[in-house]
Amino acid sequence: MPFIADLHIHSKFSRACSKALEPETLYRWCQLKGITVLGTGDFTHPAWSAQLQEKLVPAEAGLYQLRPELARRQDQDVPQSCRAPVRFLLESEISCIYKKDGKVRKVHHLVFAPSLAAAARLSARLGEIGNIRSDGRPILGLDSRELLALVRGSDPEAYLVPAHAWTPHFAVFGSESGFDSLPECFGDLASEIFAVETGLSSDPPMNWRLSALDRIALISDSDAHSPEKLGREANLFDCELSYPGIFSAIRGRDPERFLKTLEFFPEEGKYHVDGHRKCGARLDPEETIRRGGLCPECGKPVTVGVLHRVEKLADRKTGKRPAGAPDFESLIPLKEVLGQALRVGPGSVKVDALYHRLLARFGSEFRILRELPAAELEAEGLPLPALALARMRRGEVRLQAGFDGEYGTISVLAENDFSHQDQLALL
Ligand SMILES: [Zn+2]
Ligand SMILES: [Zn+2]
Repeated sequence: MPFIADLHIHSKFSRACSKALEPETLYRWCQLKGITVLGTGDFTHPAWSAQLQEKLVPAEAGLYQLRPELARRQDQDVPQSCRAPVRFLLESEISCIYKKDGKVRKVHHLVFAPSLAAAARLSARLGEIGNIRSDGRPILGLDSRELLALVRGSDPEAYLVPAHAWTPHFAVFGSESGFDSLPECFGDLASEIFAVETGLSSDPPMNWRLSALDRIALISDSDAHSPEKLGREANLFDCELSYPGIFSAIRGRDPERFLKTLEFFPEEGKYHVDGHRKCGARLDPEETIRRGGLCPECGKPVTVGVLHRVEKLADRKTGKRPAGAPDFESLIPLKEVLGQALRVGPGSVKVDALYHRLLARFGSEFRILRELPAAELEAEGLPLPALALARMRRGEVRLQAGFDGEYGTISVLAENDFSHQDQLALL
């Protein structure tokens, strides 16, 4: 049975993260979202690791589940329609900040461990190098190559995957403090890298433009800082439900077992194009080049976004899909879809009520976004959400790209749709 995995999140112990990020809440939200396997986030943090040890018990090889007595209590708040098993996989993010070739590098990496014991071994080594106690995503003055060597040395099944590979400030290919290639970053160990996380602002076709990534699996995760953001990007597998099963599917780039990534429209990400947030200046890559990289408002260099950066490093035009590359689907979070249909913000009480009503009626958010026939929403007296969903699935969306930390916006409905609501010829 195919299942969805989100392999990059954070706990309440990471900076700027919700206090609600507890194992119990994650378990509940995974069911509401339709996620089967969730990265734990932050396993290097001593207090979070203590919680994981206390509240999780082993399940399938390399996976953990919430203790049954804790799970039962949470299940009372999960509608029957959404109830499903949830597994945890040990994951943490490390921020490496160091100097290489005369430049300051700031790169985030995901590290994965096949057991609590392996995670503890790796954390102990990292704790000798820097402070892993103050932040769930620790900052270490460690070269990426050295981190990779430590991870691979800690357990034969411990892996490193560069996180949100294209974001300007903290990524392996980032315009501000990254590298132009994996060998430049990881040196002689570059062949140990078998996957990169594409991040919210890029999608697979953008990454397919680099032949250097043809042998690399592209994974997508939420990097959630609050429970509601879980699964905003994720991976769809049809493999053995286990840590080795998942990593063998990723490493093998086997489209029979690693089926798809579930993506944001990349324009919605907050670093898609170039610009200056505080000046309100959004620039397409061509315009940035025409202006010599400078902001039209303040004259200082703009933040170069993901699209521009891909363009710079790409060695082929769009259109080629490398052999073995999984498929992908572009989705919009259900609350955004409902907010547009109700003409209120996605965080409003009205949207929240409808969201939970739909989940109780039809099942998890992913089930509604990906599988529910739009006609069923229409039959429920919800023609506009039905229309919005159908358009999202066909990719009929209007986008205003994000830049310099400002999320992009996406519209699936137009003024017209509201005035003709009673005579909607749907789908
Ligand atoms: Zn990060
Ligand atoms: Zn400016």
